[in-house]
Amino acid sequence: MVKCPECKGEIDVEEEDLDEGDPLSCDECGADLRVVGTDPLELETAEELAEDEEDAELFEDEDEEEAEDEEWK
Ligand SMILES: [Zn+2]
Repeated sequence: MVKCPECKGEIDVEEEDLDEGDPLSCDECGADLRVVGTDPLELETAEELAEDEEDAELFEDEDEEEAEDEEWK
């Protein structure tokens, strides 16, 4: 039994049956979930995942700019 990160409801699936990247949907709230890690088990909503990917790209760009600024100081 695993827990939905959205509604904290229990999803009727065995943790051992899940692999990283597996899609999953919550019966309680209908959220589209994805397994992002199995040890420990970590679930993310499909929406959160899309946002995270966008953020990661933005952060990369910011980091590069910051690194350049440091050199000029
Ligand atoms: Zn749910």
